[in-house]
Amino acid sequence: MSNNGIGTKCVQAGYTPGNGEPRQIPIVQSTTFKYDTSEDMGKLFDLEASGYFYTRLQNPTNDYVAAKIAALEGGTAAMLTSSGQAANFFAIFNICECGSHIVASSSIYGGTFNLIEVTLKKMGIDVTFVDPNASEAELNAAFKENTRAVFGETIANPALTVLDIEKFAKVAHEHGVPLIVDNTFPTPVNCRPIEWGADIVTHSTTKYMDGHGAAVGGCIVDSGKFDWMAHADKFPGLCTPDDSYHGITYAEKFGKEGAFITKATAQLMRDFGCIQSPQNAFLLNLGLESLHVRMPRHVENGLAVAKFLSEQPEVKKVTYPGLEGDDYYEIAQKYLPNGGCGVVSFELEGGRKAAESFMKKLKLIAIETHVADARSCCLNPATSTHRQMTDEQLEAAGIPAGLIRVSCGLEDSADLIADIAQALK
Ligand SMILES: *Cc1c(COP(=O)(O)O)cnc(C)c1O
Repeated sequence: MSNNGIGTKCVQAGYTPGNGEPRQIPIVQSTTFKYDTSEDMGKLFDLEASGYFYTRLQNPTNDYVAAKIAALEGGTAAMLTSSGQAANFFAIFNICECGSHIVASSSIYGGTFNLIEVTLKKMGIDVTFVDPNASEAELNAAFKENTRAVFGETIANPALTVLDIEKFAKVAHEHGVPLIVDNTFPTPVNCRPIEWGADIVTHSTTKYMDGHGAAVGGCIVDSGKFDWMAHADKFPGLCTPDDSYHGITYAEKFGKEGAFITKATAQLMRDFGCIQSPQNAFLLNLGLESLHVRMPRHVENGLAVAKFLSEQPEVKKVTYPGLEGDDYYEIAQKYLPNGGCGVVSFELEGGRKAAESFMKKLKLIAIETHVADARSCCLNPATSTHRQMTDEQLEAAGIPAGLIRVSCGLEDSADLIADIAQALK
């Protein structure tokens, strides 16, 4: 499977039925699993054997789908989570604890910003935000003795900045910590951050991966490349015995390839319980089966809408990394040669007021707190997803109050453009 193209992996990776077994992945709708002896089950609890005992920790349906996403990203292991928020929380908390510090791009999803800026701080995990365009020297200056990870988004939601993954990875590695990249917007069809040096990749599968607005979910993929033991002093959770698992040392027992996801499963899923329901994993897999067919259409529609908007006098600024002249056009050519996603941001000349009346007039493009759906939708971040941020924080994140984010779906681009044109007038 590993030699197959991305499309073949979208359709078939993760699950290979045996003779007479279901062609489609089975939904294992069971909270628990039955064993003949207590010894058999004990081996699972001790992580001496792999298998299932309780769906809060692991479920076969989820594991098929996680294995597919691991294959798509080129990682060694993956886990599904109940949401993208849970994925980013787990990815960070799996290696950070009270007293840790992370370096994060300031240009990230509002929910993740809140998680890092407010909630993780309450848990004693501190952050230094950096400009996504920070130079190596500026990035280096953000590190502290207790820095344990670097975080960024390949294409930031909704600012649409593009992360220089190689640069961030290089600096992270020079400081002996992993780079975590949220790859929700491009999906592995358009960018695979691990190929550029990222160590951990996260997803809100709620977006393009599901793609039909049907199931909230998340995923964490481990590249299997980060050498935890080489920096054992920084990662005691992975590199010293876990008393809650009979003294297992994850990095020793499961190696670089398996330690991160095994610990996240055995500790974080056990204790926080953010499992994705097997039903949702099944729906997610249906979305993944056509991801490679849908993404080019989202990109095509995104580019068509961005071009049209950029030619309208009512429009002050269009942000779309695939549009020539965009601040991130060059870097997008490097990391996203086939295009990024269908999300376009723009500012109307009339600011917040004009944005409101424009959105009211749209007919096909619906006002929704969502992106990356088959159906086009739009949002004013300042009054919805990002309303917890101050105007200064909004400016710093590149999201002025009058910004509209349009997520171009899979409709005909001519119809989307006609809808926008009538709403602009
Ligand atoms: C939506 C989103 C999230 C949060 O995911 P949920 O599934 O809504 O919890 C995280 N990161 C990015 C980039 C997103 O777009």
